Amino acid sequence: MLRCSGLPQRGKPCARPTRSHTGGEMTILATKTDPVRPTRAADRRDKPGGSPGDLPSSEPTWQDELRRAVRDPRELCRLLALPREFEERAVRAAPRFPLLVPRGYVARMKPGDPADPLLRQVLPLVDEDAGVPGYVADPVDDAAARRVPGMLQKYHGRALLIATGACAVHCRYCFRRHYPYAEGPKSLSGWEPALGEIAADASLTEILLSGGDPLVLADDFLAKLVERLTAIPHVRRLRVHTRLPIVIPERVCDELLAWLTGARLVPIVVVHANHAAELDESVARALARLTDAGVTVLNQSVLLQGVNDSEDALAELCERLVELRVMPYYLHQLDRVAGAAHFDVPELRGQELIERLRGRLPGYAVPRYVRELPGMPSKLVLA
Ligand SMILES: *Cc1c(COP(=O)(O)O)cnc(C)c1O
Repeated sequence: MLRCSGLPQRGKPCARPTRSHTGGEMTILATKTDPVRPTRAADRRDKPGGSPGDLPSSEPTWQDELRRAVRDPRELCRLLALPREFEERAVRAAPRFPLLVPRGYVARMKPGDPADPLLRQVLPLVDEDAGVPGYVADPVDDAAARRVPGMLQKYHGRALLIATGACAVHCRYCFRRHYPYAEGPKSLSGWEPALGEIAADASLTEILLSGGDPLVLADDFLAKLVERLTAIPHVRRLRVHTRLPIVIPERVCDELLAWLTGARLVPIVVVHANHAAELDESVARALARLTDAGVTVLNQSVLLQGVNDSEDALAELCERLVELRVMPYYLHQLDRVAGAAHFDVPELRGQELIERLRGRLPGYAVPRYVRELPGMPSKLVLA
């Protein structure tokens, strides 16, 4: 999300990831950040990751951007010169699901505009506290899809690994904002049950890394995990679901491209942008690095009230994506997660918007409008 000051440059290596001080296990987070639902406020007081040798270089690394992300609602409101009342309300709304937004993404917002579509995705609102019937902790029944710790399977041939609970941005409408991440694997050895399960099931030809956001993890951990997946003969494709290339485009670095494209597995990256204003030049360069390296890049969006629920907003987003060689894949109907009811757009309105897009854009630029219903063999196509 964030607009970035530093540009990803070819040939520029990532900073080295953090190592655990405590034992033999590698710390898999590249830099310490919040799980989507942190258990203790103290967890948010991060120490920078990286070793002393990584220190000052003129270009901020993605780890720097992650570490320096805005976590204080007051600071966000001040950076954007928002009226005082937003500040107080955001502070009141934040504790249950803390604010987290990289500075580069904040820089793409319009100062002084409380209705900015990027701001709306990240600013805590008191509306989140309204209990709304039908809006629940686990709207897509992830609990029923769990095969072993960290691994979900809902659909034929595809297993999804909840690689981490941490993200680089806290989207207020996150359908996993209440997910029990603490129960998941914390190290490569914690992934052995999932790796064993995948190896024992020859129907699993595609493995998805999701979360949280898998790309907050260190590249040397991800490289090891991918190496293990590559060693399983029936696994053919690796799909990474991530918002990092959008919010911290510096994340698309040489080390990432090395594990993503260096193995036998066909790499697919599914990014998440909801509005054309998210796709600035730094994001364009990051996406070009992926596509130039031969990665298939798709985008998924969520239909969000006040963000992209207009024909123009969706058309601009889709056109910008295809011009960046990113195919619009899904437009998701909002999952009814507790705290997000104020983002809901009625399905009829969504269907009408898709029809209008069909009348205006090339067929390939129109995403499938889908809803996830628990127990279904695929996402349900609404239009
Ligand atoms: C959405 C989802 C997938 C991916 O579905 P596609 O239709 O292939 O994009 C896979 N596993 C789980 C658990 C999912 O929720």
